[in-house]
Amino acid sequence: MKPATATISQEALRHNIELIKTFAPQQKLLAMIKANAYGQGLLPAAGTLADLVDGFGVARLREALEIQETGYTGKILLVEGFFDREELLKTLSRRFDTVVHCLEQLELLEQVAQEWQQEQQKGFWKRKAKIYFPINVWLKIDTGMHRLGVHPEQVEMFYQRLKACPLVASISFVSHFSRADEPDCGYTEKQIAIFESATEPYPTHERSISASSGILYWKQAHYEWVRPGIIMHGISPHYTPIIDLGFKPVMTLASSLIAVRTHKAGEPVGYGGAWVSDKDTKLGVVAMGYGDGYPRNAPEGTPVLVNGRIVPIVGRVSMDMLTVDLGADSQDKVGDEVIFWGKDLLIEDVAQHIGVISYELITKLTPRVIFEYK
Ligand SMILES: *Cc1c(COP(=O)(O)O)cnc(C)c1O
Repeated sequence: MKPATATISQEALRHNIELIKTFAPQQKLLAMIKANAYGQGLLPAAGTLADLVDGFGVARLREALEIQETGYTGKILLVEGFFDREELLKTLSRRFDTVVHCLEQLELLEQVAQEWQQEQQKGFWKRKAKIYFPINVWLKIDTGMHRLGVHPEQVEMFYQRLKACPLVASISFVSHFSRADEPDCGYTEKQIAIFESATEPYPTHERSISASSGILYWKQAHYEWVRPGIIMHGISPHYTPIIDLGFKPVMTLASSLIAVRTHKAGEPVGYGGAWVSDKDTKLGVVAMGYGDGYPRNAPEGTPVLVNGRIVPIVGRVSMDMLTVDLGADSQDKVGDEVIFWGKDLLIEDVAQHIGVISYELITKLTPRVIFEYK
């Protein structure tokens, strides 16, 4: 009997990448595998994808280091850049690509470059000068998300200073959509216009703005690089599933029934007695709880799959277990598999039921969950 287990289909992951390439056939692919590859395992994902994509994007230096330590020699971009001087020095010695989104980062880069030059002038052979290589910098422009990035009118100043910096090998431009999953809201067109006018003076430089929603819905904004995240896992960036577009769910989250019990009408179930059965029934107790990352706030009626049929969660989700109403006539037995999401129960539907986004469900699984890669 298996407790909480996430099965990852490498075949589905590879299939989704090939499909993404049909959406963006001319573009280079930066696979976003931040946050432990969306909870699916950083190094397994990097290993599966390495020969299929043009680089990886992560949000923490540690993840970039881990990927490189496996021997990967391709491009790794820090999408929020370096957080302090120590991180910048590692970024330089490891030759990662970095985002620069603010003045503090620019100044640190200039300062380290100046020290590096002085050290070199003292004589490479006399003193052991640090060996740095100029790196690729992605200047982040705030086109309307208003989270990270320089304002469009600051682009020229940042560009000139980056260009003058001896530690900068090349400059690319990057931005991020805030409402790309709402095709009719009009905001994405505005962001595209701002991005294009801000980068127009630098036509030979590469650009990137599209994440999953941009790839699916904003073909005119693919530019040179696209940055898929959630769709690589066969999951939609919103609640409408994308299997109709040909994507395959990569993860199946399952566990097992550890008890099947008769239950009388009028009796409550679980902490707080939050649910009371209105009829005689059979309850299934499943080895899955918030200690595995399944949300405690999943309401009564959240669907799970037992022996091919949908049954509702009843009562509160506890740390190690949750309870489902199997129905009075059910034949399910201890040891039977229970599926929480996968190809036959789409995570988008579960997420909508719980009132979270799919991104949150997959990134919050805990180390107690067993991961199997097939
Ligand atoms: C996470 C992230 C992405 C990928 O987003 P999805 O919606 O999962 O495709 C792309 N770009 C940046 C900068 C990100 O942080």
